[in-house]
Amino acid sequence: MNTTSQCSLDNYLVLPEHSCDARIREAREILGEQCVVLGHHYQRDEVIQFSDYQGDSWRLSELASQARGRYIVFCGVHFMAESADILARPDQKVVLPDMNAGCSMADMAEISQVEDAWEQFVRLGLTSDEGKGITPLTYMNSAAAVKAFVGERGGAVCTSSNARAAMEWGFARNRKLFFLPDQHLGRNTGYGMGIPLEEMVVWDPYLPQGGQTAEALRAAKVILWKGHCSVHMRFLPEDVDRMRQRYPGIQVIVHPECRWEVCQKADDTGSTDKLRRLVTEAPAGTKFAIGTEIHLVNRLAKQHPDKTIMTLNDCGCLCTTMYRISPQHLAWSLENLVEGNVVNQIKVRPAVKRWARVALDRMLQIKG
Ligand code: SF4
Repeated sequence: MNTTSQCSLDNYLVLPEHSCDARIREAREILGEQCVVLGHHYQRDEVIQFSDYQGDSWRLSELASQARGRYIVFCGVHFMAESADILARPDQKVVLPDMNAGCSMADMAEISQVEDAWEQFVRLGLTSDEGKGITPLTYMNSAAAVKAFVGERGGAVCTSSNARAAMEWGFARNRKLFFLPDQHLGRNTGYGMGIPLEEMVVWDPYLPQGGQTAEALRAAKVILWKGHCSVHMRFLPEDVDRMRQRYPGIQVIVHPECRWEVCQKADDTGSTDKLRRLVTEAPAGTKFAIGTEIHLVNRLAKQHPDKTIMTLNDCGCLCTTMYRISPQHLAWSLENLVEGNVVNQIKVRPAVKRWARVALDRMLQIKG
C-alpha cells in the first residue's frame, strides 16, 4: 500500500487527481465493510464514483442512520456530516474529508441570532419558550445547534423532499410556523399549500425586530428566516423565458431553493432525488432545462444521452463548498483510516446531539 508514514494532507494535495484513484480503491478494499462512503448528488464525478450510496440530504441521513460500518466517510458538506454523526451509533465515527466544505446557507442562521429572534417572539406573546404558539422548523441545511434548538421547542428538521409534509405537521401543532434558514424553500412550499405570499413574512436577523412590525408578525402564518442558497439564487425568471423561447416544448424543472418567481414559471420543482426521477422517467427525446447545481445536471446529461439536458443558466451554478471534497482529500481520509487514524472526525457535542436527534427523528418520521 502506497501510504506515507504520517499521512499528512500536504503530501496528498500535490498529487495529480488521477493518481489518487488506485489509492482510493485500494484503501476501500482494505477497509471493506468497516467503512461506508456516502456521496451527495452535487459532488463531482471524480469523487462520487467512489461512493457506496448517493442521494439528497434526506436519503443520505436515512442511510447514515442504517449504516453498519465503523466509519462513515461523508462526501458532502459540514451540516450533512453533523447530521450523520447525530444519527449514527455511538461506536461509529463520521469523517468529512475536507473541513472547509461548509454551506453558506447554513452559515446564515447562527444559533445566537435564532435564540434572539425566538426571545422576541416570546416577548411579543406569539409563543411560549417551549413552542406553544409557533412550531419551529429548520431545513436540513442548518447547524446542529439550530436543529437542537428546534427539537427542544417541539419542532422538526425537514428536507426539500418532505418540506410540505413537515409544514402540515407543524400546522397540526400551532397556527404559526418559524421556518429556517431558507426563505425560498419555506415560501415555495407554503405557497404550494395555498398560503398567500402576504401571510409569509421575512425575518431579517440584522434589523430591529427582524424588520417587521408586531402586527405583521402576529398576522403571519409563516415567519421565514432571511437565508438563501447562493447557488440556486443565480437562476432567474428571465432564464426560464429564454430557454422556452430557444427550445419550444422544453421542460423546466428546478429545485425549490430557487426564487419563488422561478419556481412559478417552471413546469415542476423538487428535491435533487425528484429532479433525477423526473428525468429518468421521461420518454426519450424529452428536453430539460434544470435549475440546480451543475454537477448533478452534467451527470444527468451523461447518464441520459437519449434526452437533451441543459442547465437553466450556464453562468457558474456550482456549489464551491461541495467542490472542496477532492480525490486527494478522499484518499487522505481513507488511507488514514487504514492506518488507524481518524482524521477530520465530525463530533457533535452530546448536549446538542440530544435535541438535534429528536428533531431529526421527527424528520425521518414525516414522510414526503
Ligand atoms: S448548493 Fe447551496 S444549500 Fe446546497 S450546500 Fe451548496 S451553498 Fe449550501
